[in-house]
Amino acid sequence: MSDRTIFPGLLDTGREEFLHEFLLRMAGTLPDRPAVIEPAGSERYAVTTYRELELLVRDHMAALDGLGLEIGDRVILEADLSAASIAALLACSALGLTFVPVGTRPPEQRLASIMRTTEPALYLRCPGAGDADIPSGVGLGHIEGPSLTIERAPADRARRRREPTVTDPAYVIFTSGTTGRPKGVVMSHRAVTSFYHGMMAQRLVTPDDRVANTSPLQFDFSLINVGLALGSGAALVTVPPESLRWPRRFVRVLKETGATQVNGVPSIWRPVLRHEQQGLADLDRLRGILFCGEDFPLPELRHLRALLPGVRVTNCYGSTESMACSFEEVPNPLPADVKRLSIGFAHKGAEMLLVDEAGRLIERPGLVGEIVVRSPALFTGYWDDPDATRAALLPDPVSPRSGQVVLRTGDLGHTGQRGEMYFCGRADSQVQIRGNRVELDEVRHRLLEFPGVMAAEVLVLGPADGDRRLSAFVVVSARSTDVGAAELRAHCAQALPTYMLPSELRVLDALPTTPNGKTDRESLVALVSG
Ligand code: ADP
Repeated sequence: MSDRTIFPGLLDTGREEFLHEFLLRMAGTLPDRPAVIEPAGSERYAVTTYRELELLVRDHMAALDGLGLEIGDRVILEADLSAASIAALLACSALGLTFVPVGTRPPEQRLASIMRTTEPALYLRCPGAGDADIPSGVGLGHIEGPSLTIERAPADRARRRREPTVTDPAYVIFTSGTTGRPKGVVMSHRAVTSFYHGMMAQRLVTPDDRVANTSPLQFDFSLINVGLALGSGAALVTVPPESLRWPRRFVRVLKETGATQVNGVPSIWRPVLRHEQQGLADLDRLRGILFCGEDFPLPELRHLRALLPGVRVTNCYGSTESMACSFEEVPNPLPADVKRLSIGFAHKGAEMLLVDEAGRLIERPGLVGEIVVRSPALFTGYWDDPDATRAALLPDPVSPRSGQVVLRTGDLGHTGQRGEMYFCGRADSQVQIRGNRVELDEVRHRLLEFPGVMAAEVLVLGPADGDRRLSAFVVVSARSTDVGAAELRAHCAQALPTYMLPSELRVLDALPTTPNGKTDRESLVALVSG
């Protein structure tokens, strides 16, 4: 057992928290309540209580503590979400180590790039992890069941730090990196815990809830769910990522675990809405659904609502650079004339603003600009990428001389009459086609208005300075399989100018998704060019 305490600073007054302090704050008051519920073989589930989770953290700390690691050393975590992997990341937090979750079996080149840039001291593997070679100077450990064993100690490290601080990186999460190189978003303890406090003020769940996480550990949405459940004294249900592909299995896990709140990207519901409607309607303990990461296509949302009329749906907007930013309840019922969902206001302690192309504040409702975020939960920077970091942070548009910076989200939005925000696509999805400005989202929304279209995506293909054309992809409901490209094209032509009409239109069984569950645009590009 480690002689270091998990709560090194609890006796200090007025000090900000570390990640592990926030996540274990219910261990003292609700020790016997379930903290994590995870599948353990057919129809069986393992329950870890708050007290057991805290003990697991202490055991993991003891295993890591003798390795001579320096504060700020990186620990790669190749794992799915489980009580053991949560304990590992909490142990890292308690020892001042920075964890880097990479999911299980990350693509070889991606992992190599992350290893090169973060130069980890230690690599931890959970069951299901791959067996890629780990460079000899990097320590190697395994998490099996509740125990963490070290197979190989890391090479000796220089130790210069004495005291972890809340400004230290708690974790680095690598985003998909549209530039081709994954971008490592560095989040400090202070940023994460202030986000968690902002989220708690929304009162989304109570200790009686069971919050189902459907996101992989390398996607920060899973850490949002861990914070939501453990910070509220609720139980976190870990839905195995592979079950999402099998709607019946997914619904069974939700039923058997008594999930009351299910959080995930919108695409997790698509197969269920197609193939498992009755099972979904029978989830009588379900009270809340929270989605994040992309727009929920309105036809699918209405369908979901029809099957689960009493369930509260929350639209959670934001990016990895601030964990998330807002939580807005979707009106119930959703009026028929609603075309766009509100993303509301930023969580407590943060603000969303709009700026024009020159970085000036936009205050008039209805005018579209870029959403920027002022928040204590902002990331520290991109790992080893000062240029990208500078580009993402702007002087505060309200008080540019203060030295305060805001996050450029790259998202377009406009406000409504109450000041509430509406997301209207990525700034970079505004393209020029034969000299005309086109918002890909406008075309997408037009397609979604066609009866039976459940989801749609629009891409621009061709060189920026050459002949650019639009390609559209739609998914139709199981009952509308006769919807064809010609009808969809005619429907678009009734409302859109010729240069906005897709030159190619394909009806697909499903939109391909990234490991995070968002629409995978690169696969769609490959589909067209291949
Ligand atoms: P997240 O983990 O929140 O999905 P990413 O950094 O992967 O964060 O992606 C952030 C982007 O995803 C945002 O800038 C925005 O374009 C999109 N996004 C996130 N949440 C929503 C939402 N609720 N509605 C529409 N788009 C969203």
